[in-house]
Amino acid sequence: MPVFIVNKNAQNNGDHEVHNKTTGCSYMPLLENQVSAGTHATCAGAVSEVKKANPSFRINGCYYCCNACHTS
Ligand SMILES: [Zn+2]
Repeated sequence: MPVFIVNKNAQNNGDHEVHNKTTGCSYMPLLENQVSAGTHATCAGAVSEVKKANPSFRINGCYYCCNACHTS
């Protein structure tokens, strides 16, 4: 199953983006800004894990590697 990470820094629009580390992504944050989002069958599982751990975060899937979870 793919491994996901979330950017500990928010984007300009306030979203924290989830990326698929297994397939790789050109828009992955710097290593020091990557926080583990766990191993999940789909990005939806990673998004909900990050939301549970950080209820105040706005989480969004990366447009490029987690398009199914990209909402804004
Ligand atoms: Zn990505």
